[in-house]
Amino acid sequence: MIDKHGFMKCISCNSTFDIDQNLIVCPKCGGLLEIINEKEIDIKRLKGKGVWRYKDFIPGNYKKIVSLNEGNTPLIKSRKFENLYFKFEGLNPTGSFKDRGMTIAISSAATLGYKIVVAASTGNTAASASAYSARAGLKTILFLPKGKVAKGKLFQSILHGAHIVEINGNFDEALDKVKKLFNKNKDVYPVNSFNPWRLEGQKTIAFEIFEEIGNPDFVIVPTGNAGNIYAIWKGFKELEKSGLIEKIPKMIAVQSSGSSPIADYIIGKKKKIEFVENPETIATAIRIGKPVNYMKAIKAIEDSNGYAIKVDDKEIIEGQKELAREEGIGVEPASASTIAAYHKLLNNGYLNKYDKGVLILTGHALKDPNILFEEDSYSISSNDIEVFINKLKI
Ligand SMILES: *Cc1c(COP(=O)(O)O)cnc(C)c1O
Ligand SMILES: [Zn+2]
Repeated sequence: MIDKHGFMKCISCNSTFDIDQNLIVCPKCGGLLEIINEKEIDIKRLKGKGVWRYKDFIPGNYKKIVSLNEGNTPLIKSRKFENLYFKFEGLNPTGSFKDRGMTIAISSAATLGYKIVVAASTGNTAASASAYSARAGLKTILFLPKGKVAKGKLFQSILHGAHIVEINGNFDEALDKVKKLFNKNKDVYPVNSFNPWRLEGQKTIAFEIFEEIGNPDFVIVPTGNAGNIYAIWKGFKELEKSGLIEKIPKMIAVQSSGSSPIADYIIGKKKKIEFVENPETIATAIRIGKPVNYMKAIKAIEDSNGYAIKVDDKEIIEGQKELAREEGIGVEPASASTIAAYHKLLNNGYLNKYDKGVLILTGHALKDPNILFEEDSYSISSNDIEVFINKLKI
């Protein structure tokens, strides 16, 4: 049955295909596939909440829907900055935006009759895949970089019963294992973000922002494997095609300075992307040297007249504390890179305080509880409590 929603197109060789959930990569060249939704978005027809509210604009057939009520996350207005909003994706069912994509990917896997899901992960894809697979009654195999996954994320994957293969290497090497396995063994369904179906779920971030505050001027997205920035751009692009907005917000990628191939490409106006062999950053969710979706991300940044920026680990930790202590929002380090980026972009004049913008706060603080314990002394002496209270009053 041909799905009239649109078609699929290879970003490398431009081949086109009918909508087919069995297609993960281009059958001709192995390149990334884009899913072109041709259905106009009609806000009045929307029903329900979360990702599946937008099901009419998500191509594919979903006979089995595997959902944990993901999406519908709060858009929180900043206390400090007049025109700034926080999209708190840490409040998804497993604590990151990955759930938006996972509900679509696992629903596809379940509909197609797969029994085994496979993923490489810095942690959040693993946690999300494990939970959604469990929900669908499927098995999960995870390739994780040994010793590099934040405690909370590893705990979730174990809790949800995933089978874990620890790799002596980084995320990029773990992802290579998934790609090789997927090429050899057609019994496994990969849910990394080279799977374009996942990005169809993630594009709903844009729809939710639009429904709440209209069209922002810019969106800042922590960028690792670089699927999410493309997905959010794609959401806005579909709103534009449907005549609901006139201009796409500037898509701004933020990367950590130890792991910044896309930012280096954009800032350096390079001809070709240069991968980073040994990416290092405290923000493990964006500790990725070879972003699988770099072509899609660059397309999103360039098409939206956007930008990219680097922040270092110190700025990320300061940003994490700022969001937690001045806005009341607890996020993991990767997400905190966005507020660090916002400060930098205000300082260098790329943005001004009248621009309306959204920071995508991708994951919850509880994912990575070790970070602050390592550097903060947090205990005060109970003997001095009266003196202490007097000081606080000033
Ligand atoms: C996955 C993830 C990212 C990076 O998203 P990409 O789509 O890989 O660029 C950023 N922050 C958090 C918390 C994540 O889990
Ligand atoms: Zn191709």
